[in-house]
Amino acid sequence: MASRSASGSLSYGQGISAGIAIGKAYVFDRGQARVAKYRLAEEGIEAELARFAEAVALSKEQLADVDRRAKNLSGAAEEEFYLLLQAHAQMLENSRLLRSVNAVIQHEKINAEAAVQAAMDQIAEDFRRIDDPYLSARLDDISEVGQRLIANLSGEAPSRFGHLDEGSIVIGHMVTPSDVALMADSNVAGFISAQGGAEGHTSILARALGLPGIVQASNVLGLVETGDNVVLDGETGAFIINPDAGQLETYRALQADFSEEVAQLALLRDKPAQTTDGERITLAANIELPQETPSVHQAGAAGIGLMRSEFLFMNRDDVPGEEEQFQAYKGLIEAMDGAPVTVRTLDLGSDKLASALAGHFEAADNPALGLRAIRLSLKEVDLLEAQLCALLRAATHGPLRILLPMITTPDEVRQVRAVMLRMVRRIARRGQAIPDPLPPLGIMIEVPAAALAADALARECDFFSIGTNDLTMYTLAIDRGNDQVSTLYNPLHPAVLRLIQFATAAADRAGIPINLCGEMAGDPRLTKLLLGLGLRHFSMSAPSLPRIKKQVLSLSMADCVHFAATIMTMTDARRITDAVMNDSVGLDDVPVALKAI
Ligand code: PEP
Ligand code: MG
Repeated sequence: MASRSASGSLSYGQGISAGIAIGKAYVFDRGQARVAKYRLAEEGIEAELARFAEAVALSKEQLADVDRRAKNLSGAAEEEFYLLLQAHAQMLENSRLLRSVNAVIQHEKINAEAAVQAAMDQIAEDFRRIDDPYLSARLDDISEVGQRLIANLSGEAPSRFGHLDEGSIVIGHMVTPSDVALMADSNVAGFISAQGGAEGHTSILARALGLPGIVQASNVLGLVETGDNVVLDGETGAFIINPDAGQLETYRALQADFSEEVAQLALLRDKPAQTTDGERITLAANIELPQETPSVHQAGAAGIGLMRSEFLFMNRDDVPGEEEQFQAYKGLIEAMDGAPVTVRTLDLGSDKLASALAGHFEAADNPALGLRAIRLSLKEVDLLEAQLCALLRAATHGPLRILLPMITTPDEVRQVRAVMLRMVRRIARRGQAIPDPLPPLGIMIEVPAAALAADALARECDFFSIGTNDLTMYTLAIDRGNDQVSTLYNPLHPAVLRLIQFATAAADRAGIPINLCGEMAGDPRLTKLLLGLGLRHFSMSAPSLPRIKKQVLSLSMADCVHFAATIMTMTDARRITDAVMNDSVGLDDVPVALKAI
C-alpha cells in the first residue's frame, strides 16, 4: 500500500517534454520483477532454444503490428517511431542480445527468460563502463526489447492503455518508447517514470508527440496508487499526488497558459527572426541524425547549423564508409530543400565513443584532453578522407558547409584543407562531379586556445561556430558530464563570456560569419546577452527554436548592446547569472571603479 503522507506535496523528477497534465493515475509495473530462473537438463536445451526462437518471431510480429498502428501518428512522431521500430526490429535479427541469450542457454543451461535477463544485465554493465550518454540512452531500447521477449516467453501480454479514461496519467517503474507510442493512440495525458534518461527514445518520442512527461522520479511508485489525482509539469519535472483545490487551480491556469503559448509559437513558423529595430537573426537547428529533418521543418529553422556526424558512427559494430556517408549527407541536403546544411566532421572521443573505433582509443586519464575530434581524424587519416570525399560529393547536391571540431591551432586547419584538396583530385580522377565552389570550411571555437587565437585561425578558415558546451568545460576545467562538479559549470562565467566576445569580434575583423551552436543558443534567457555581444547566427535543437524566435522578436538591438556592455563590466559569476537570468542589471551591478567612466 502506497504511503499517503505525501499527498498534496510537491515532488520532482526530470522534466523531459514540456506541458501540464492533470488526471487520474494508472500505475503499471511491468518489467520490475526479476524473472524466474531454473536449470535445464542437457536434453532440454534444444527445446529451450526453439522456445526462444518462437518468442523472437512473436516479438517481430508484435512490432509489425505496432508499426501499422503508428501509421496513424503524424509528422515528426511517425518519423521518430519508424526509426525506433527499425532499431528494435534490428535487435531481433542478429544482435548481440540474441547471440548472448542463445549462448547463455547453451552454456549455462538455464531457461530462456533468465538468459534474456542475464544478457541484458551484462550489456547494461558494459554500457555503464563505457559511460557514453548516447549508449546509455540506447540501453532503454535494449531493455525494452528484452522485456518484450521475457513477456512473450512467459505468456504475459505487453501492456496496453486503450481502456484508460480521458486524461489518465501513466506511472511506471520504466516507461518504454513503445508504451509512449501506445499512449498516443489512447486517452493518456502524460506519464511519470521512476527511471529513464532525458536523451532516451522514451523522452524523444514524448517530445515529438507533445506528451508531457517526467523521468527519474525515483520515489513516485511509493507515493501513488491507481485512481489518485495527479498533476505534472513536464518542463520543470514537478508533480503532485492528490493536489488540493488551490494547487489544482494553479496547474489548470498553467495548462491554459501553455496551450496558448504553443498556439502562439506555431504562428511564428514562417515569420523572419528580426529584432524590433530590424536586425535579421538566423535561427538554424542542430541535429544528430539525418532523419530528424521533419522536426527541423516544423520549427521553421533557417537550415541546419550543426549536424553532429559522429552519431552516424555510434550504436553499430562497423564504420560507415564513404558511400553510406554520402547517401546520408545527400539525403539531408535534399531534405533541407536549398536551406544551408553544416556538417561537422567526426567528434568522437572523450564522452562520445563508437564501438567500431574503440580500438583507436587507449585508456586515458583525461580523455577530454586526449585523442578527440579533429585529433583523431588527423591521426586516422583514412577516416577523414572517406568523410571529406562523402561531403564533397554531397555538396554537388546543395549548399553544404564543413565544420571541424576541437581545433586549437591554424596548422590543423591547413592539414585538413590539404587533405580536402587531395580528395578533390581523387574524386576528379574517378570522374565524379566536384562542387564548384568548394564548400566553406569552418571551425568550432570550443577550446579557449581557439578563442584566444581567433584572429590567426580566421585567416585559415571560412567561418566560426562557437561550441559553448565544451568552451565552458575547457575554460572552467569542469567536466560537463561529471555530477560532482556540475553546480560549478556555468557558461555565464565572465571568462567564458569574454572568450565568446573576443571570438565574435575576431570574426568581425576578418569578415567571416560566426554562429553559436552550444546549448546557450537554445535558452531564451541568454538571447539578449548573446545578441548584445555581437552574435547574429544561432543553432539549437529544433524544439527550442520557436521560443528563441519569440524572444528575438521582442528585443531591440540597442537594448541588447547596452545590456551586454553592462554585463561585461561585471566580474562575479553569480551576480552575472542573476542579472542575466532575471534580465535585471542595476547600478549596483557596475563596479564602483567603472561608474565614473
Ligand atoms: C559544443 O561543444 O558546444 C558543441 C556544440 O558540441 P558538442 O556538444 O557536440 O560537443
Ligand atoms: Mg563540442
